Amino acid sequence: MTTLVWFRDDLRTDDHPALAAAASDPGGVVALYVLDEESAGVRPLGGAAKWWLHHSLESLAAALRALGVTLVLRRGAAGEIVPAVARELGAGRVLWNRRYGAAERRVDAELKQGLRESGLDAHSFAGSLLFEPWTITTKTGGPYRVYSPFWRACLASPPPRAPIAVPVFADPPAVAATMASVPSDALSDWQLLPTHPDWAAEFGAHWRPGEAAARARLSEFLAERAHRYANERDLPASEATSGLAPHLRFGEISPQRVWHESLASGADVGMFLSELGWREFAWHTYFHRPDLATQNLDRRFDAFPWREGAGESLARWQQGRTGIPLVDAGMRELWRSGTMHNRVRMVVASFLVKNLLVDWREGEAWFWDTLVDADAASNPFNWQWVAGCGADAAPYFRIFNPVTQQQKFDAEGVYVDRWAPDSVLTPPLVDLKATRVRALAAFDRVKVADRT
Ligand code: FAD
Repeated sequence: MTTLVWFRDDLRTDDHPALAAAASDPGGVVALYVLDEESAGVRPLGGAAKWWLHHSLESLAAALRALGVTLVLRRGAAGEIVPAVARELGAGRVLWNRRYGAAERRVDAELKQGLRESGLDAHSFAGSLLFEPWTITTKTGGPYRVYSPFWRACLASPPPRAPIAVPVFADPPAVAATMASVPSDALSDWQLLPTHPDWAAEFGAHWRPGEAAARARLSEFLAERAHRYANERDLPASEATSGLAPHLRFGEISPQRVWHESLASGADVGMFLSELGWREFAWHTYFHRPDLATQNLDRRFDAFPWREGAGESLARWQQGRTGIPLVDAGMRELWRSGTMHNRVRMVVASFLVKNLLVDWREGEAWFWDTLVDADAASNPFNWQWVAGCGADAAPYFRIFNPVTQQQKFDAEGVYVDRWAPDSVLTPPLVDLKATRVRALAAFDRVKVADRT
């Protein structure tokens, strides 16, 4: 009987536990991807992520084809589509790698139960995180709220497993006959790419989605840039970071592969791996707090007086027209390339939340729509971190001054000149000193809430 492998945020053939487990099944393997914008609570992808998904699925289909495996594309609620395709195929087994959002887990658990009740074997594997969230707990069995002890606990637990090689399929043609009866959507019909206007026109100059590019990017980073990472990762003009975020977001490379290749490279990768640790921390936090994108982790911030009617300020921030050069450069880098350097993400987020007093959820939503690496855990986690209400957050009163930040991290103005050379001509949207004082006064409301 055929085995169905359901792909989700794991668009790769290397180190794919579910695909590897299917390799020895005698009836052949069929792959499935479901574009699910219907299941309750599953967050629909933003525009930039859809651009990435389109190209990543093209790349996955080609990689699977080379292994003799067909990728079937379907759109709809996964809870209905997966059993339907399994039935059409006469599949005996359905396999997938786990997801960690609450809504996704609910869909997957119901599916597993339903498939098993219909006599199919359904099985899930660990493929997207280095450590399963329920294995890293405090002494009292709860989740960590502070990063350093969290990461120490990760490093003290059994190390991430070695990556699994791309599987070899014994008799690929066996599935060909069945496949004729299992239709697939055409990727182009999903209209994932923007057309009128094509705001992603420049993305291709910055990115090559897909597994092959992800592996090449890791190798190139380890050989050429990892030695600069510890000293230069905060300099936006220096391109010292890996650029792996969207590849990890879509699972084109596994964190296990990144982990083991980094250690084997001989480069000094401690700092780099601890950044991967922040990805783990964000996902573990999201696992325990599924409302991360909507609720303040620190509920005292429910009393924070966000500015109502800040639409014009928000629009100027989104368009990179604030007259604050580092903020404008970051926002325009984001719009044109689908990414933004981490240091600048912190600066633009702090400016929105603290100098403009705009609710962090507005900024999170804009990043969700415009980042190619927009990630259901890392994005809200980091927004809450900057806003001061998140896990192990920066204290609220530490307000970044974007001018000082530029002097420190882009002293020659190389980054600002690259993305927003004209920003200096725009009068600043706000006075940085006065809005800092206003932000601290607003924070007093949170402190009052703390006492009451
Ligand atoms: P590198 O420095 O090479 O780091 C390696 C990997 O570690 C990254 O690819 C990423 O997977 C992970 N990582 C590094 N820093 C963080 C971090 N602070 N939190 C979580 N993971 C991290 N990252 C996302 O992947 N998706 C998001 O939606 C996202 N939204 C963010 C929003 C804000 C407001 C801020 C301040 C940060 C956000 N980040 C997000 C974290 C970080 O900015 C990016 O992961 C990083 O810039 C990606 O560049 P890189 O791949 O070159 O990172």
